[in-house]
Amino acid sequence: MVVKGVFFAAYWRIKQIIAVSLLFVVLLAGGLVYLDMTRTQNVISWAMAGKTIVVDAGHGGYDPGVIGVSGSREADINLAVSAYLAELLRGGGATVLLTRTADKELAPIKRDDLTRRAALAEGADLFISIHGNAYAADCSQHGAQVFFGNDEQSKALAGALQVSLLRIDETNKRVALCHRDSFLLDNVDVPAVLCELGFLSNAEEEQRLLSREYQWQLAYSLYSGIGRWFIEQGNG
Ligand SMILES: [Zn+2]
Repeated sequence: MVVKGVFFAAYWRIKQIIAVSLLFVVLLAGGLVYLDMTRTQNVISWAMAGKTIVVDAGHGGYDPGVIGVSGSREADINLAVSAYLAELLRGGGATVLLTRTADKELAPIKRDDLTRRAALAEGADLFISIHGNAYAADCSQHGAQVFFGNDEQSKALAGALQVSLLRIDETNKRVALCHRDSFLLDNVDVPAVLCELGFLSNAEEEQRLLSREYQWQLAYSLYSGIGRWFIEQGNG
């Protein structure tokens, strides 16, 4: 009995040591992840500070953009994500110019409306236009995609944003593409991209795009992608 008692005491002692060790490892890992997140946040903020960024919520007013399968309006989703993105960028120390903060057009004629949006980019460090996609012929099409104009800086920016966006949607296999026929991108003289957040013609993706949580995730992806691009450019 005595031998058996000693055996159990040793057994429980070892179990205790293992439990305490595991707890220590978990706490250490948690602490390291927290430190890494804090560090990443600080690096991004450092990269943003002093930058001027134009965030263009596509469409608005008489132009609702594409209409989703359940009747949602692209212009509203663009505005919501743009507002979140502006909040994040401002928190990081950037000056943000929003092309619109309400459901309004910038001019009665579309060409003038786009010209006014592009004009805001003068002197800015970066221009990002937020949009939603639709493809009626195939409602299974989905995923965010970034388009860039015909210059290397915009291409690199689009690549950084696309990588960031893929992280929040494992099923998205899209790549950043050159958009050769965009009046807006052609008329902006600073690094500029057009981001299609997803497909409103896909019922499932439309519902995700309408959720505040996913809108915030999209904005955060764009924010971290912009930060990474500034760092890569070496002008952060
Ligand atoms: Zn659009």
